[in-house]
Parts: sequence; structure tokens; C-alpha cells
Amino acid sequence: MNPALDPDTDPGVGPGARPEVRSEARHEARPGAPHGLGWLRQLAAATHQLADGTHQLVAGTRQLFEPLQCPGCLIRVDRPRLCDVCSAAIAVLPSPVRRTVDVRDGDPLVVTALLPYEPPWRNVILHFKEDPDRVVREVVQGVMGRVMREVDPMSGLLLAPIPAASVRLRERGFNPPEVLARWAAKSFGGEWRPRLLERHDYHGPLRGLGAGERQERLQGAMSPGPDIHHHRDASPAVILIDDVLTTGSTLAEAARALRGAGIRRISGLVLASAELGRNSD
Ligand SMILES: [Zn+2]
Repeated sequence: MNPALDPDTDPGVGPGARPEVRSEARHEARPGAPHGLGWLRQLAAATHQLADGTHQLVAGTRQLFEPLQCPGCLIRVDRPRLCDVCSAAIAVLPSPVRRTVDVRDGDPLVVTALLPYEPPWRNVILHFKEDPDRVVREVVQGVMGRVMREVDPMSGLLLAPIPAASVRLRERGFNPPEVLARWAAKSFGGEWRPRLLERHDYHGPLRGLGAGERQERLQGAMSPGPDIHHHRDASPAVILIDDVLTTGSTLAEAARALRGAGIRRISGLVLASAELGRNSD
């Protein structure tokens, strides 16, 4: 056997590497201390590396076998992008739609919805909320920019995202309305105020509940946050920002909390409205 490849003579390869580990353990071990701790540490490190490697391998394999999809219509595409049909569809922005949302003990809230919650927007927005990649973020940010540029900036305007329930925040790792509010502030010039409202986790999931049930669950779910005292204007105008408007109960509860703190000029802005029949609230 070539001595260079003989595991017994080459300490760098194969089982020949082990004596080195053993000797390290021997050096570290004090009389009476248990032997082999260094070896255990190395085993733990190697297991960790193996787990990391397996993770990367699984991710790589998934990319190979799960074809890339257009985030708008889910057909296969060659690289991360919107397909030509969806690109053409989103190039034409629909006109924003106004809806009014009933607020307990007060005036209704006027909410502007930038997009209909319909294809191809629906899938793009679902991706944005759950697991946004670069393409989806660019598309949504582009929409915010294009629409917000059309609106005249107002003085003393605060852009306040609807805060996420902590359980949702843990699941997603981010709060979609907060990202939308930041992008809106960028193209609109308003002040981004992520802590104008605070959310308390009094309620369970709202999915599938009707407007009445939602309102009941959400009662007291939000209160004014620390940003409520930090505005230059004595009577600021607040735009509440959310991703998808369904029954409007969440926006209504947010508006109620701000009105309770003395803020009078409040409106809503959402990325999309899930109502097909417009102005149906
Ligand atoms: Zn498509």
C-alpha cells in the first residue's frame, strides 16, 4: 500500500485522524477527569455540520424538483419572475376603490383599496403576506409607489400600520402592513409610525368569522401605542394601513382606539379589498 494513503501512517485521512483527537483529549484531561470530552465535542460539531449540510441539500433538491412558479398565476416560469400575461395585467393599475367601514360608537371610516383581491393580484398578495421573495416584494412596492405618487401629500400625515398579533408575527417573522406603511411613506412623504397603535392578543384567529363575530373578538384588541404622543401637528391626520380588507373589523377597532386618544382625522388605506361588490359595506 502507498504509505501516503495508508490510514495507519497518514494522520490526516480516515481513521488515522482519530489518534490526533484522542491525544487532544488526553492533553486536556486532568487526572481524575472523565476522558473523551474533546471527542464528544468534535462529534457534536460534526453532527451539526452534517445537519447543516442536509438542510442545504434538501433546500437545493427542492429547488430542482419544485418548478419555479409565476407568483400571479402559478404557471411554470424559467426564473423567478411574473409570467408575460401577469406582467401585462399588473402594468395597468385599476383605479383605487373607496369603501366605508362601520365603527362602533362613531362615524364610519373611509378606506381606500388600491387593488381588487382578484387574480393576478390575489396570489401576489398571498405570497407577499406569507413568504415574499424578491419578485413579489418588487411588484408590491412598485404598486405602492405608483399609486401613492398620484395622491397629494397632506401636512401632519402619519402612516400607521395595523400591528400584528404576536402569534402571527412569530409565524411570519414580519408584519406585512408595517412594510406597506414604510413603502407608502417613502413615496408619499408622510411619517411612518409603526407604534402609533399597540395590539393585545385577546382574540383567536379571525379567519372564517362574520363581521359581527370579528368585531366582538377584536373589542379592546388595540390601544394607542408610544408614538401617540410624538407628532408635531396638534391635530394630525392618520392613515391606517392594512394589507387586505375583508369585513373591516380590524381597521374599525384601530380607528376606535385612536379616536379614544383624541385623534379625529383618520382614514384607511389597504393594498386590496376582498369585497367583490364594491361599496357594499
Ligand atoms: Zn402569471
